[in-house]
Amino acid sequence: NHFIGLHTERRDELGELAQAITSLSNDLDRLKNERNEFLASISHELRTPLTYMKGYADIVYSQALTDADLKEYISIIREETENLSILIKHLFELAKMDQHSFPIRREKVFLKQLVTSIVDLITPVLEKKDVALFVRCPNHISCYIDPNRFQQVLLNILDNANKYSVKGGEIKLEVKDSDRYIEIIVRDQGEGIPKTDLPYVFDRLYRVEKSRSRKNGGSGLGLAIAKEIVEAHDGIIQIYSEQDVGTKVIIKVPKGEVIEECTFNR
Ligand code: ADP
Repeated sequence: NHFIGLHTERRDELGELAQAITSLSNDLDRLKNERNEFLASISHELRTPLTYMKGYADIVYSQALTDADLKEYISIIREETENLSILIKHLFELAKMDQHSFPIRREKVFLKQLVTSIVDLITPVLEKKDVALFVRCPNHISCYIDPNRFQQVLLNILDNANKYSVKGGEIKLEVKDSDRYIEIIVRDQGEGIPKTDLPYVFDRLYRVEKSRSRKNGGSGLGLAIAKEIVEAHDGIIQIYSEQDVGTKVIIKVPKGEVIEECTFNR
């Protein structure tokens, strides 16, 4: 009986091992598929601006054009070059995050100071679309974050709020001090995001409407980068949206003092 007991135990163990191997191999297959899909998406994203650039460069090269047409085509080529360079910059940043070679240097940051410098940077962009930005941020709020990385996060979020706002729209940026967290909230009254797309907007290269986002110069990576950075600070980022009403992004970061340097660790 003792012998049979041992035998059964062994068989159970082997069964569990076989199950673990199957599930590991399924995980590997899934990862391989995800990688292939991502590579296919990247190729597509890189090819699209290049197709436009080549097409318009060919026309400019081979046809006699009026000054107005020439200017228009060159400006499309310039825009596409800019789109491509943003896309490559974003891809490079995400690749560095994946390899954990994207240091987070935390220091005590007064949010008011950070917000003021961001407002200075984004104002010319908002002015082009006549979008108004209202800021509420008490002077005393501080927390331990990497100011450069957070600047990047907030610029991405505000840039989206502007891109998907109508001309003359309003954006509100509010910083609140809650118990253990600092909360940063960005609200816009733009076109919003359909319910069915909302769960995927933090995915790499996901865009609600390809043509709409492309027209606005979106890379489809802004929110993915923001999420990586916020989570590397042990924070959370959430998005709420209603179509034709607007979008709200909430970032929560723990206030706790962390002095050491860390890298991305997923
Ligand atoms: P993109 O660079 O294309 O804007 P993001 O990763 O920043 O990419 O955002 C992903 C998608 O989520 C966008 O393509 C857009 O469709 C949608 N989105 C993000 N922010 C907003 C917003 N404030 N209002 C409406 N749609 C938004």
